[in-house]
Amino acid sequence: MTFTAPTDIDPHSAGFVRVAQALDAARTVTILCHVEPDADTIGSGLALGIALERRGVSVQVSFSRPVDLPRSMAGFPGLHLLVPPAEVRAIADVVVAVDAGSEGRVGELADRLSGAPVTVVLDHHRSNSEFGSINVVDESAASTTALVARFFDFWGTVIDRDLAYCLYAGLVTDTGSFRWGGSSTHELAARLLATGIDGDAMARQLLDTHPFGWLPMLSTVLGSATLIDDAADGRGLVYAVIRRRDVGELRSEEIESVVDIVRTTAEAEVAAVLKESVTGGWSVSLRSKCDVDVSAVAERLGGGGHRRSAGYISTESSEETVAALVTALG
Ligand code: MN
Repeated sequence: MTFTAPTDIDPHSAGFVRVAQALDAARTVTILCHVEPDADTIGSGLALGIALERRGVSVQVSFSRPVDLPRSMAGFPGLHLLVPPAEVRAIADVVVAVDAGSEGRVGELADRLSGAPVTVVLDHHRSNSEFGSINVVDESAASTTALVARFFDFWGTVIDRDLAYCLYAGLVTDTGSFRWGGSSTHELAARLLATGIDGDAMARQLLDTHPFGWLPMLSTVLGSATLIDDAADGRGLVYAVIRRRDVGELRSEEIESVVDIVRTTAEAEVAAVLKESVTGGWSVSLRSKCDVDVSAVAERLGGGGHRRSAGYISTESSEETVAALVTALG
């Protein structure tokens, strides 16, 4: 058995050298998380923010929408670094985007990238467009927080309990509670848990807690799920549609959880959930089990993501959106 010690040479160390040089020289840093933030983008942003603040850097962390942070992330360390988009300084010495596969993923805050002398992209999406002046993109990283942890090791940042909390949050959610991810994922989890964070409570809060209203919403949405067994070259597509009226006051956590149920369908290799957006149109989540690369499918439809988890926006009707998806799946 081989054990990869944190001191081993990291394949991204060349990128890390440039990131460290840029951050070491910065007095102001802005960290941008992606729109509709998940625990990986917020965990990465706050961990990096805390580490920079400890080095005496003036840091702002932000995301452009929605207005409020998901409730499940209310206990994260470093929340004092979060500022509303309108308060993000126009120019910072360095702007870092975390867990964002493209400029569009940071929403209206993309203008802060264009004004910055140095822009850093830290990400693990295979579809990443490398929109920074320095890009460290590792699609083999289980989460962006796993990549940030490797950067901390490189940078000589001691991962204490607060940093571990942020990093673990992204790791546990992006690996579907460690259902996917290799030995290095578990090694990192062990290191983070050893700082004393409560992994049980974090997983419960981030993944296993929903208000009662989630149950009737699931009943409606799953009750109309549809299986197209000859789609995806006969491997099958299952999809469900979430309309605004089904959602009521429910949070993004409840909406995002639906695809994790739909994708368990045995008869379908690919799962899709169409989520009606407030502005009309659909935000589509795609998942696959094994051989279909949904990142490539999503890219063809204007989005992106990972091999087995991706998404895109459609402005067509739900019927047209499904028809276009079936065509794209071949
Ligand atoms: Mn991620």
